[in-house]
Amino acid sequence: MSSPDPTAPMLEMRGITKRFPGVVANDDVDLTVLSGQVHTLLGENGAGKSTLMKVLYGLYQPDEGSISLNGEPVEISSPNDAINRGIGMIHQHFMLVPTLTVAENVALGLGGRHGLADMRPVRERLLEVSEQYGLRVDPDAHIWQLAVGERQRAEILKALYRDARLLVLDEPTAVLTPPEVDELFVTLRQLTADDRGLIFISHKLHEVMDLSDEITVLRDGRVSGHTRPSEATRESLAEMMVGRPVEFTRSVPEQQVGDVQLEIEGLTVQGDRGMAAVDDLSIAVRSGEIVGVAGVSGNGQRELAEAVFGLRPIESGTVSITGRPVATPSPKSVREMGLAYVPEERMRDGAIGEFTVAENLMLVAYEQPPFTRHGILNRPAISDRCLDLVDRYGVKTPSVDTPTRHLSGGNIQKVVIAREFTSDASVLVVAQPTRGVDIGAAEYIHERLLEQRAAGAAILLISEDLDEVMQLSDRIIVLLEGRIMGAVARADASVNDIGLLMSGVTA
Ligand code: ADP
Ligand code: MG
Repeated sequence: MSSPDPTAPMLEMRGITKRFPGVVANDDVDLTVLSGQVHTLLGENGAGKSTLMKVLYGLYQPDEGSISLNGEPVEISSPNDAINRGIGMIHQHFMLVPTLTVAENVALGLGGRHGLADMRPVRERLLEVSEQYGLRVDPDAHIWQLAVGERQRAEILKALYRDARLLVLDEPTAVLTPPEVDELFVTLRQLTADDRGLIFISHKLHEVMDLSDEITVLRDGRVSGHTRPSEATRESLAEMMVGRPVEFTRSVPEQQVGDVQLEIEGLTVQGDRGMAAVDDLSIAVRSGEIVGVAGVSGNGQRELAEAVFGLRPIESGTVSITGRPVATPSPKSVREMGLAYVPEERMRDGAIGEFTVAENLMLVAYEQPPFTRHGILNRPAISDRCLDLVDRYGVKTPSVDTPTRHLSGGNIQKVVIAREFTSDASVLVVAQPTRGVDIGAAEYIHERLLEQRAAGAAILLISEDLDEVMQLSDRIIVLLEGRIMGAVARADASVNDIGLLMSGVTA
């Protein structure tokens, strides 16, 4: 980036308007980013964040408005143009070529001088950059071999290799575990210390409060607020995003609990790497109770949920539902015994993207009366049911016949939750229910969970979001390496104590 005026902001977007048929994705948006700062762009799904960034990256031309870089008006005609002007973009969906190595991906598009034949200088400089910013990644590894966190580091390296001065990161933490997030933030701070500018997109308010220097909030395509962490609270940010006050400290009413509905005894389950992922675990959940399972990702939460739902073989131990041991575990048999399941991987295990919203809503119940009579689908009954669920669970969709993959993550989750929570199950196993979901939708999902608790469901809530577990659970169990590190009642729970248990420190 040239610097004709050293006092001018690194980036000024003024009055940006971008229309799509039927939507104003950006409506008169201003954004000013200074070098050495993290500027967060905050907003719910559909607020217009990605569109604004695509305008900046030359993927879209704005209908109105102007862009200046270091005080100089520019027109950014293409991503190549953006890159040449010092703008780097880490997309939400990675853009690397899986069959090439990290170094080859970096060399791609650099032009003839760096043909794939001579990778030596590329590798060397890559190692330098990776050292300088703590971005550990093997330049010779093929992209397909890398874990998600490593791919992301490769993307960032690629941008830095081209000496991006202004880096856009579109929801970089959505795919990362908490320790990886910490590591990323260290790198991002180093980049700003180096006078680069960052535009950071995230829905996670504690991250935003942690990392940002400036925060611009978008709602329905417009700037709904501009603030700084020192002047904001999670509540004020959420209100700017959603347009109404959002309840964070939820009071969970006292409630009598009933009989044990889900009993897990001495459960041992193998992980994918052939080691015990769940190790001699026992948990009992009573009617009217939410038992939270906290822990850092990868400590057996996923295997526990999959084993209880009959998706993963049980090595030893038993699972009982409403007092009856599960003899032959399978999703079908545990459902019949009264268990409903909201899976962590909602698009793999929870909903079928190609199916319509109605089909996903009816995935479990369609064979039962009144939806099927004498082997014939009762279409009016199905249609009424779907419209009712969409309405009650606040699913935002053009119609119940829309393919589910067209919905946002939060709305897909609402479809899964609507289906599972209305299946009359006695036991709900709910894994990461609000991961990647908007605040408004998360609040909604929390309300529905408490509604199920009030109605007497026994709920096992598995979540890596400690705030969520602490807000909703009557008791909290902390998992570490497949074992219970400790259990605390809500009344005694402190973030600090639970955090210590999560990292293996017992009182
Ligand atoms: P965000 O990144 O904040 O979730 P987007 O910028 O992706 O939001 O979307 C803003 C609005 O513009 C949404 O209503 C979205 O459906 C619409 N939109 C985004 N891209 C396109 C496109 N290429 N064509 C039509 N509509 C689009
Ligand atoms: Mg987006």
